[in-house]
Amino acid sequence: MRVIENPKEMQAWAVETKRAGLRLGLVPTMGFLHEGHLSLVRLARERCGAVALSLFVNPTQFGPNEDFSTYPQSIARDLELCRSAGVAAVFLPQAAGMYAPDASVAVVEERLSAGLCGASRPGHFRGVCTVVAKLFNIALPDVAVFGQKDYQQVAVIRRMVRDLNFPVEMVVAPILRDPDGLAMSSRNAYLSADERRMGLGLSQALALAHDAAEAGERDTAAVKGRMRAHLESRGLRVDYVAIVDADTLDPVDALSHGQVALVAAFSGKTRLIDNAAL
Ligand code: AMP
Repeated sequence: MRVIENPKEMQAWAVETKRAGLRLGLVPTMGFLHEGHLSLVRLARERCGAVALSLFVNPTQFGPNEDFSTYPQSIARDLELCRSAGVAAVFLPQAAGMYAPDASVAVVEERLSAGLCGASRPGHFRGVCTVVAKLFNIALPDVAVFGQKDYQQVAVIRRMVRDLNFPVEMVVAPILRDPDGLAMSSRNAYLSADERRMGLGLSQALALAHDAAEAGERDTAAVKGRMRAHLESRGLRVDYVAIVDADTLDPVDALSHGQVALVAAFSGKTRLIDNAAL
């Protein structure tokens, strides 16, 4: 397995790999890998002859009061996991190697990133789009794999790929959960035992929405009210509860197929997100 820090070297590796006739897959991550990340690697390996994983805590997607400086890291362990998962190359850049001090170009998606996490985290999706565009130009993937866990991120990146004609096929992996239902996340490492128990409220609130839809409930406002009440009853501080059209991410009035319920809530200081198709 190659470990490459320099963007130019990474590009050279990608060109060489593709010249050898291999279809190249990329799994972008911020590291502190868990089974969810590894499931993305497996999907990429099923579709590609060579898989690269990027491991970069991207400073530009964090707000000033967010957890950039404390984001969990465990590079030696991550590299070991990548090796066992059959990753061909890990791209492990330094922030200084990624961003010139006077960098003045960014990628901005203006519609899908306006609400939900984009509303609570101004500048987040600008940082995400810019770094993913850079990673696509550096790692030159034929296929890029993302997790459904970050539903809005997938929608925004899909739009960027379409609108900017990136020659990249997007593959989306289902959400991997711990046995009790908590969606796996590197940020779960922040949670105390109590906060982790509270965190179960997110998947429970989504189950409420799912059951209401199955039972024929149509009133979105009523369902969102019940979801919010459930989150609060678990001691969570709600950031948002939303039921939106799966493609446009526009809020909907009446529940039906082709919609997604999304929640974001703080367990203690840790912001957790989750979502489920209805
Ligand atoms: P992150 O390192 O948190 O930026 O995540 C890197 C990629 O892994 C993103 O595409 C995430 O959506 C995906 N991912 C994170 N958690 C999960 C999970 N529990 N199940 C599936 N994919 C995930």
